[in-house]
Formats: sequence, structure tokens, C-alpha cells
Amino acid sequence: DQGSTLNNKRILLLKPRGFCAGVVRAIDVVQIALETFGAPIYVRKEIVHNSYVVTDLAKKGAIFVNELDEVPEGARVIYSAHGVSPAVREHAKERGLKVVDATCPLVTKVHVEAIKFAKQGYSLVLVGHRDHEEVEGTQGEAPTVTQVVSTVEEVEALVVPDPDKVAYLTQTTLSLDEARYMIEALKKKFPNIVGPHAQDICYATENRQTAVKNVAHGADVVLVVGSRNSSNSNRLVEVSQNLGTNSYLIDKAEDIQLEWLDGANTVAVTAGASAPEVLVKDVVEYLQAKGYGSVDEVEVMPENVRFGLPPEIVQAIASAP
Ligand code: SF4
Repeated sequence: DQGSTLNNKRILLLKPRGFCAGVVRAIDVVQIALETFGAPIYVRKEIVHNSYVVTDLAKKGAIFVNELDEVPEGARVIYSAHGVSPAVREHAKERGLKVVDATCPLVTKVHVEAIKFAKQGYSLVLVGHRDHEEVEGTQGEAPTVTQVVSTVEEVEALVVPDPDKVAYLTQTTLSLDEARYMIEALKKKFPNIVGPHAQDICYATENRQTAVKNVAHGADVVLVVGSRNSSNSNRLVEVSQNLGTNSYLIDKAEDIQLEWLDGANTVAVTAGASAPEVLVKDVVEYLQAKGYGSVDEVEVMPENVRFGLPPEIVQAIASAP
């Protein structure tokens, strides 16, 4: 029977995927800074957590450093999309650095909440991953009253001066399900706990997870394009795995291991908020070369968010010759 031998391997390309508004803005900031001020431009930490993006900007003249000590006095430095603590801002002042702040406005929103709650005398619980730069930055707004938790056990072990005066915040790129679970545990321990008006998990994290949730059950494998240190990309893999669909994080097409595709007819492809579309295109082409002939884009919801550039950049553009 001809029909049974026909290739029915297909690709589902999830939408929304890839770059969020905060990442587009942060990359634009570095590019415009290089064009208007000229190289070298220093960038504290990876501007966004993607190795392709960082390598590309480094080729164009950006110098990535871990700490401000590595930036010559008086030079220009860009803060990454993940934000910085007040201690870092202070350090920049001491060294006379010219700062361009590419912190995502949705990370800044969480910083503002931290400052507000701390001023009102709350003990703060920040749900997130301790070693992530965003968490270091947010915690730094009120370091003496903020505790970071990433497991329910850590919630249970929390000790605060007044259990009726506790507020929580979260990292912007958590799993929605995990965050809900953690907040429930916090509410159980501190029934009067208060939180942000709207959740701190950002729209891009939420939308990419929702897209995976909608499609994972109909796919044999979910490939997530993103770097190892990209929080929201890792969460996409987890969301799929929690639904019982094998999922793998890949930086690029060459990372795909053929055995992952054994017996897989439908491969869903998505990308974390810091992964460029060119890498997704490579993955699709790779799969097509392996016989996945049809590509269907599945748009789970529209997404049209854009952020304005930081004032330092707007001014630089305005005064450029
Ligand atoms: Fe901003 Fe969310 Fe993108 Fe992070 S993932 S840069 S918080 S929009």
C-alpha cells in the first residue's frame, strides 16, 4: 500500500516564540550604542542569555565583562536586560562610568515593587533562582529584608520577624505552574502575605509556555532553541516534559541528536525569549533535510509588545551628527 509508506513527518512551529520586547530592546541598545558612540562599548554580563547574540555583538565591538572592575575608568558600559542592583550602580558612579541601562522594563517593575514593599516595612520573599543575574539585581534593592526561595522546603524553613508583614515577588521567567505552587505554599505559611498587583512573570514567558502547553500533546518531541543559561528556555523544556512529551534544549541545529527523532513523526519547534529567529530557521531546515517535509506554524495567541529605547540612547540618537 503506497499510502502507508508516504512520509507523514511534520514540523509544528510554535508562535509566539523567540525574541521578546525586552531582548529586542537590549540588543538594539548595544547596536545603536556601537554606531553612535563607536567601539569599544562595555557590556556588564551577557546582554541577553544567548551565546549567538553575544558572539555576534562581540564581533561588532562590544566587550563583555563580568564586573565593572574590568571596565576602564570613564568608559561607557551597558547594563544587561536582567538588571543590576543598587550596589552595581554605585560602583559605576565611583568609577566615573557612563552608563546605558538596557534593563527590561518588566524587570524594573519588579525592582520598583521590591523598593515599595521594603519601604512599607515588609519582609520580602523572592521566588526565583538564586544564581540568576535578575534575582541578584532584584534582591539587591532590599538585601537585608529579602530572602530568595526556589523550593517548597525553603518556603517552609523561612523565618521572618513578623509573619503578618511579608510580601512576595517572583523572577520574571519562572514556570507559571511552579510559581503558582510556590505562592500557594507561601500563602499557607503566611496567610496575610501580599504580592504584586499583577504577576511578575512576564508576558513573553507566559505566552511561550502557553504555546507549548497547547501543542505538546500533539507532538512527539518538542525542540526548544535557547542557551543553557536562559531561564525561560529551560522552563519551556520543563513544561513539555511535565506534559509527558520529550523535550530538548538546543543552542543550534547541530546540537540535535538523531536518536531524539527516532519514531517521531511530529516535531514541535519553539524558541526562548533570547533566541534569534535565524537559529530557528536553521533547525527547521535541518529537520526538513531529515524528511520533515511539512511546516505548519501554529499561532496560539497574537503578541505585539514593543518597548521604547532608554533615554541615554534616545538622546544619543537625537544629538548624533
Ligand atoms: Fe523582559 Fe520578559 Fe523578555 Fe525578560 S523575558 S527581557 S522580563 S520581556
